Amino acid sequence: MKPTLPALNRRDARLWQRAQRALPTRQWAWWLLPAFTFALLAGTAAWLTFEDREKEEEIQRRIVADALSLEAQLRAHVQANERELGRLAAEMRTPDAFTLVVQRAFVQPDPLVRNWLAVYLIDQSNLVVAEYPSSEPRSAELARGGISAHVEAAGPNGANGNPHRLVARFPLRHVLEQSVPWWVSTRYSVRFVDDFDQLLASTDQLGDIANNARHKISFDPPVTGVQLELIARDAFRPWWSRLPFFLLSIAPLSLIGSTWLLARQTRNLRSAERSWRTEVNWRRSMEDSITIGMRVLSMDGTLIYANPRFAQMTGFTEKELIGCTSPMPYWATDSIDETHARLQRILDGDSPKNGYEVRWQRKDGSPLYVMVLEAPLIDAAGTQLGWMGSAVDISERKLQEASERAREERMIAHARLVTIGEIASTLAHELNQPLSAIVSYNAGLQNQLSSHLQVNDSVRDALVRQGAEAKRAGEIVSRIRSFLSRASPQLEACDFNTIALSAYELVQKSLRNAGARVELQPWPSPIYVQADRVLLEQVVVNLIRNADESIVASSISSGLTPLIRINVQHDGRDGIIAVEDAGSGFGTLQLAQITAPFFSTKPDGMGLGLAICRSILEAHRGTFQATSTVPVAVGGLGGARFEIRIPSSQVALPA
Ligand code: ADP
Repeated sequence: MKPTLPALNRRDARLWQRAQRALPTRQWAWWLLPAFTFALLAGTAAWLTFEDREKEEEIQRRIVADALSLEAQLRAHVQANERELGRLAAEMRTPDAFTLVVQRAFVQPDPLVRNWLAVYLIDQSNLVVAEYPSSEPRSAELARGGISAHVEAAGPNGANGNPHRLVARFPLRHVLEQSVPWWVSTRYSVRFVDDFDQLLASTDQLGDIANNARHKISFDPPVTGVQLELIARDAFRPWWSRLPFFLLSIAPLSLIGSTWLLARQTRNLRSAERSWRTEVNWRRSMEDSITIGMRVLSMDGTLIYANPRFAQMTGFTEKELIGCTSPMPYWATDSIDETHARLQRILDGDSPKNGYEVRWQRKDGSPLYVMVLEAPLIDAAGTQLGWMGSAVDISERKLQEASERAREERMIAHARLVTIGEIASTLAHELNQPLSAIVSYNAGLQNQLSSHLQVNDSVRDALVRQGAEAKRAGEIVSRIRSFLSRASPQLEACDFNTIALSAYELVQKSLRNAGARVELQPWPSPIYVQADRVLLEQVVVNLIRNADESIVASSISSGLTPLIRINVQHDGRDGIIAVEDAGSGFGTLQLAQITAPFFSTKPDGMGLGLAICRSILEAHRGTFQATSTVPVAVGGLGGARFEIRIPSSQVALPA
């Protein structure tokens, strides 16, 4: 049964199907080789059987031919005996001449008659009238186990005219000995048998003749009840009993055996492969579904594996990640050395047991905070292949922590701001009285001097200016007090050119950098905005003082011409006052940072100036912008440029 998987995504399902397809299912193919071998074996056997049959038939045909030819020769031999007996009968005119004629014949050189056992003269009533030789040798011949045959011939008539017959007996063995040619004896054992297969005479004795080819033909006549049989000397051995065939048949058998073993081995392998594929697919689907990023580093620090979640976390594709070495593309660019040192410690086996937190960087540059736990990766042989790291994305928690920290800092700053506001408010309240007193005394003094005393003009002038400054100080104190106590600013139509000019006049004499040059570039026509004049003046004064301090700091080191430019502009909608300087700017700091309360890069700075400026601008529904290091090439002075904007359409231009 095929193992099944739970719901997979499309990619996994495709992999799974491919894995299943890769398993060979053509079981029948394994039977082809044994089947072919069997067919070959059967075909060879059939062919050999056919050949054997042909050979057997050929042997049989030859033995029949040889038997017929031998029978003719033996028959001729018997006929020669008949002829010889006929010749003796012809010589024998009377029965009385029997002994003489036969005896003479027995001593002739012709061996034919000499091999006869006996010659008989038999009368009409089948009685032996005479015989030669005596019965002794005949008995001896019979005692040797020989079987005899006989031939007959018509003999002489007796005295009373009754006919006699001549019968000669000779051993069958002699027929064979004298008439079987040598080439026949080398091939066959020739024998005479009776109708019951009893051996009568044979050329020689063979052992087991059960499988030998043979042929039997009747030898009656001339010898009654006798059959001539030829038995091939060599037993016919069928093909399957021959050694070469036995050896040959081992080959296909061993082939079948080894095929069977191979098939069994392959079956085992296939089942192992199937479980391995299942295992791999399970593992992959698990890796794909887990929310933890996983990556494997080889012992030399090369990234050799990353799961989809890891790729998703870092923003790089698996392809982009695999094969990377230090520095990894997802390392934070500002802490490469530190991260490399940590990697080195991990590769040296000194990785924190409980994991470690690290800041990486996504492909889009955003920070990625992860908690990483490293574990050694061991293969089946127990050798360490590398390090498997599981990374959990903790960015959300980290960002939450950071925002909470920032909120806390903001709250602390706010609390301090409130306290400072209260102090300033109290201070303003306390200063209000003496300032009012100074103004009244000054007014009284002026009156007294003008009506009673002759005073120098310059003294009177100084008194007038003292009174104006004291009034102005009182005004500033009262406006700031009302601003700090959250009273809305006292809006009135005021001209941006005038605000810029009075701020310029206010600070010009008190610039820290005596050599500094302040340029005021007013707008050709008045730009009226609805604003609290005193507060806006304070904003511009603040910006000029900051520019002055920046120039002091940078001109000490760079020796550049200290220049501050106050530019009044109108873009058709907003009134703009820009304060630029030739200082060193505020670098990579953001507007939100430098305008935050209590943020200062100066050793004696309070960090409240820009914060108050921003609050004043917000209260006027205006905007506050800052740019650092504006290049000279684009009309800047190379330092910072601060810009305040307030919509000018709010006021009707005076006639
Ligand atoms: P403080 O002057 O007490 O530091 P501010 O709020 O006025 O406080 O300024 C905050 C910070 O903004 C300064 O410490 C300085 O780093 C930066 N900054 C303000 N104005 C300039 C300027 N013209 N050039 C460069 N940096 C400036």
